[in-house]
Amino acid sequence: MLRPILRLGDAILSEPARPVDVITPDVETLIDDMIETMYAAPGVGLAAPQVGVSSKIFVIDISLGKDPAGLHTMINPEFVEREGMQLEEEGCLSLPGFTSTVARPKRVVVKGLNRQGDEYTLEGTGLLARALQHEMDHLNGSLFVDRLRGIARDMILRKVKKLTKAGKW
Ligand SMILES: [Zn+2]
Repeated sequence: MLRPILRLGDAILSEPARPVDVITPDVETLIDDMIETMYAAPGVGLAAPQVGVSSKIFVIDISLGKDPAGLHTMINPEFVEREGMQLEEEGCLSLPGFTSTVARPKRVVVKGLNRQGDEYTLEGTGLLARALQHEMDHLNGSLFVDRLRGIARDMILRKVKKLTKAGKW
């Protein structure tokens, strides 16, 4: 089932998500819905707070569904390694219409549970590293605008405020 994606301004997006204790049928349904919602958007990643659930879960597929091995579900993830730096354009399903250049590590290793509850690690470079870092940020209650400074950040926040006032956000 598709779930509505919350946008910047919704309180749950700025709160740290809670760890998942048990992978219940509700959690499984949430994961299925997140995958469906991510592909429909379309986006390369989606975190549970973006669909209004404060749980440490994200899904990622930088192939947008083209590579059957490209889909990853991470529950209670944590960083194992982060190194290097990349500067690329980035967007977010919770900030439709906005992109900005964001500094991110070039390579990351994340450890968490898959949907069966087994521990696994995922290593990413380039776009996957960027997506992993972006989704980890969501689970910590921050969006890519929070990594910007000065004019770039102010401009996005100002435009969102305008759109919100006009009832278009
Ligand atoms: Zn995002």
